[in-house]
Amino acid sequence: MADIVHSKVLETPPKSFEDLIIEVHEKGICGQCGGCVNFCSASEIMAIKMQDDGPPVYVNKDNCLHCGICYLICPQIHILDNELRYRFNWKPPIGNWTKVVSAQARSEQIQEEATDGGVVTGILLYLLENNLIDGALVCKKIGPFQRESFFAKTRQDLIEAAGSKFDFSASTEKLGKYSTFTPTISGLKSLLDLDRTNIAVVGVPCQIHSIRKMQQLKILPAHIIKYTLGLFCYENFSFYDPVRVRLENKLGFSFSDILKMNIKENILFKLRDGRTLAVPFASLKEGMRTACSACDDFSNVYSDISFGGLGSEQGHTSTLIRTRIGENVYEQAVKKGYIQEDASLNTSIKKSEMLAKIISFSKMKMKRAKKRFNSITKFRL
Ligand SMILES: Cc1cc2nc3c(=O)[nH]c(=O)nc-3n(C[C@H](O)[C@H](O)[C@H](O)COP(=O)(O)OP(=O)(O)OC[C@H]3O[C@@H](n4cnc5c(N)ncnc54)[C@H](O)[C@@H]3O)c2cc1C
Ligand code: SF4
Ligand code: SF4
Ligand code: SF4
Repeated sequence: MADIVHSKVLETPPKSFEDLIIEVHEKGICGQCGGCVNFCSASEIMAIKMQDDGPPVYVNKDNCLHCGICYLICPQIHILDNELRYRFNWKPPIGNWTKVVSAQARSEQIQEEATDGGVVTGILLYLLENNLIDGALVCKKIGPFQRESFFAKTRQDLIEAAGSKFDFSASTEKLGKYSTFTPTISGLKSLLDLDRTNIAVVGVPCQIHSIRKMQQLKILPAHIIKYTLGLFCYENFSFYDPVRVRLENKLGFSFSDILKMNIKENILFKLRDGRTLAVPFASLKEGMRTACSACDDFSNVYSDISFGGLGSEQGHTSTLIRTRIGENVYEQAVKKGYIQEDASLNTSIKKSEMLAKIISFSKMKMKRAKKRFNSITKFRL
């Protein structure tokens, strides 16, 4: 099952899902990323399952082998961090990177649909159309503030999964629950059943962190993930109607008026009447997921390439290339005409400004996490 060879792991008494409940769930820092459930179900142990809302739970406790894998791969557990940092040449505060650039997809259709410049979708298309992947684990919109894990196998699938438009007929008032987080990697197990062998995954930092731990431990289903495309993430939101009503009163617009949402220095809401309002993160504090306050990775330090809106002009994606795999993919995607760079947006001054913003948000996030973590356990940064 698991090929655990590292001495540090062997020296540590095996922990189990019960320890995750005590150290993560009960402390309110489970991000519901799906990492723990992924391994347990991919290995057909099936001791735990995700819930519609809230942390995973035991579904069949008798099946639990107390193998401790779910514990090790949880992004809120830091036992494997030193190994990962060494492997990825991590340096604070934004990890290893070899190139920073503001870019956009060359396809006008992707530019139109995308959240920022469509570089994520452009790269996925390059991988798919050049037979480097069978498909990509992304998530698609199923309603305003609602996405679900989705395995994209065609150009059309990828384009449908792009962007952050809330262009739906359903009224947000009928939703009840609002969430910007999607447990994308919970979809990994179903891909094993389909016998997929090469896939790319798009995820926020907690998801990519969990995947890298699975790869470090050489456990299912990490072996099929060949490319990791990481999104920047300062925090995510999850709340119910009473909070929505309070936020609407505070912000001065109805959630049903939102056409598109982008995240840069602030959260940008493009409304149906044509206005774009920049709302500071602090104004949405009430809706922030509690787990996010203990998360210290803004720029997705373990991904092959990271992407965000921060530091780029509208219609462009700030892109941090990190690994050798990331370098090859990005270079080929440019060469084959999937991605383009505008030289006037990539002067050394503009790149320095972009980096400064990424560093600043990374430091703010590390500081916030340290404060939160100090209040619940020994901090390990
Ligand atoms: C929840 C979330 C928080 C973010 N926070 C920040 C931030 O604080 N600062 C910042 O600069 N940038 C942030 N980003 C990144 C930014 O919004 C863009 O996703 C990024 O710039 C890529 O833009 P693009 O046009 O190249 O991507 P696109 O070409 O539009 O592709 C986006 C891809 O991301 C996938 N995706 C969308 N939502 C999710 C999700 N919830 N989980 C996993 N995958 C998803 C889509 O399926 C699609 O494949 C965040 C993104 C998300 C999803
Ligand atoms: S069998 Fe292993 S992975 Fe599954 S719940 Fe038990 S300890 Fe966790
Ligand atoms: S791996 Fe993810 S879902 Fe599981 S306990 Fe940790 S944060 Fe929660
Ligand atoms: S801040 Fe982003 S990466 Fe961190 S736990 Fe929240 S959703 Fe995950």
